[in-house]
Amino acid sequence: MVELQGIPVSPGVAIGPALVLDAAGYRIPRSLLAADEVEAEFARLRDAVDRVSTRLESNRLETSAVAGEHTGDIFAAQLQMLHDPRLQAELRRRIEQEHQSAAYAVSRVLHNYAEALRKLDNPLLADRAEDVLDIEKQLLFCLGAVSESRLVDLDETVIILSHVLTPSETANLDRRYVRGFCTETGGPGGHTAIVAKGLELPAVVGIGNFLDLVGNRIKVIVDGDRGRVILDPDPETLASYKKRLKERRSLTAKLSELRDLPAETIDGTPLRLSANIEFPHETTTCIERGADGIGLYRTEFLYLSSAEEPSEEDHYQAYSQVVREMEGRPVVIRTLDLGADKMGHRPLAEYEHNPFLGLRSIRLSLRNLDLFRPQLRAILRAAVHGDISVMFPLITTLAEFRQARMLLNVVAEDLKESGTPHRSNIPVGMMVEVPAAVMMLDRFVEEVDFLSIGTNDLAQYTLAVDRSNEYVADLYQSSDPAVLRLIARCVEVAKEHDCPLSICGEMSSNPARALLLMGMGVRHLSVPPSSLLRVKKAIRSVSIGQCEQIAERVMQLEAARDVDLYLLDRLGEYVPELIVT
Ligand code: PEP
Ligand code: MG
Repeated sequence: MVELQGIPVSPGVAIGPALVLDAAGYRIPRSLLAADEVEAEFARLRDAVDRVSTRLESNRLETSAVAGEHTGDIFAAQLQMLHDPRLQAELRRRIEQEHQSAAYAVSRVLHNYAEALRKLDNPLLADRAEDVLDIEKQLLFCLGAVSESRLVDLDETVIILSHVLTPSETANLDRRYVRGFCTETGGPGGHTAIVAKGLELPAVVGIGNFLDLVGNRIKVIVDGDRGRVILDPDPETLASYKKRLKERRSLTAKLSELRDLPAETIDGTPLRLSANIEFPHETTTCIERGADGIGLYRTEFLYLSSAEEPSEEDHYQAYSQVVREMEGRPVVIRTLDLGADKMGHRPLAEYEHNPFLGLRSIRLSLRNLDLFRPQLRAILRAAVHGDISVMFPLITTLAEFRQARMLLNVVAEDLKESGTPHRSNIPVGMMVEVPAAVMMLDRFVEEVDFLSIGTNDLAQYTLAVDRSNEYVADLYQSSDPAVLRLIARCVEVAKEHDCPLSICGEMSSNPARALLLMGMGVRHLSVPPSSLLRVKKAIRSVSIGQCEQIAERVMQLEAARDVDLYLLDRLGEYVPELIVT
């Protein structure tokens, strides 16, 4: 048994056989060769190297013809790398002396080579690492170890163990078979984490190198509550986790009794409790768990989960489905938040050194009107079917908000002129996700119809911590006093101007932090569907006075750790059922 510690990003426990993906996410057959298979295996490798060489040479010729010799040289360099005598000798050694399969040897050697280049912290060499991984992929393809598309042909339940999983890969995991996952990289606020929560897949990320320890099919426990991953558990550990799974199921059954009860404190202060979704089908769970509406619909997942770029009609169908299935409850559609760790079909920006500070979100939409306009049209068209609001992400300046709102008006005019059914008088709000917006909030509230604080990005930009970077995960805390002060200011300004305010970052999905936010004066939270009933349970277990005392005490503390310890204590006192043991 081996126990590993990582970052818990999606709660729950999953037990099952491992499916190991290598650095780029391919399956690695790790079987050892019998002595009489070695020669044939080496011949297979030679054949793969020849086929890749031919491909690279033809890439070089074609690219040189179309884009000039300089560009074609990229493939000449790859060809040189592929034939590097040290690389070839190492592959040969692993097959002949260690009896590794050709695919396994390729995947290990090239992965290590790419990692070594990346670690040199030199952007030019890091780019070469991508070339190495490209060669790896092509060799593995020729060896029959990977198909071009990944994870499509599962036929049994698995736990995915991978170096990295992108948000779109996570979104495309086959829920019939994938029970949970753990990755070597990744941070607590990345979108992979958010998708995992949305799919209710127990997940642990940022574990560091561990894939070398594992082979396919060994039993794995993913403990998404505590960030633990247990490889090959002993019978005692297995039994205790099976018991926990049972306890969780009975807590879920108990919580489901709260579905139709109001989210209010024991002395009657109401909280509007909405849900965050990434996919239309999630509305079923939202209704089952008594959501008051959709407080955040992350529409970019329409892009990330489909093979082709969605059309206006695809947008319209998705939004209409959501608003219809929510049966009159309010739905807040957040416009595309692509960029940074959420990339779509086409490269929307040139290479960026700091993509989280780059052309992402509303900035990207405003510069790609052929992308943005169809979405805005679809939102206004779908609004005839129910209570729809629209909000713009990552608003930093007043000019951005004005530009986006103006575009919405232009689109409404177009729809009117062409006689297309739509509704133009929908509320228009903004997400508060950067400190600049908080500082200028007194101006924004004069123009917006509502505010929604995105604490995931607000924490990232306030603390200067990349939300998906495991190396600084300990610093990424939405309970940091600096973030709390910004939230307090938002609540104050919104109240002064009578502007509706909600919080839709992951922070509100934590029952203890939800009590704090309630105490700070927030009356609308939007949380992942998996957290609706837990948050409702917490709110129904306290008085508003207790929440206010919590907030008063917390605002005197100086560090996120102190805040979280104090909040955990209070949760243990008021709602012990929700403390995970
Ligand atoms: C946020 O930043 O808090 C938020 C809700 O948006 P996202 O997580 O999609 O960036
Ligand atoms: Mg955000």
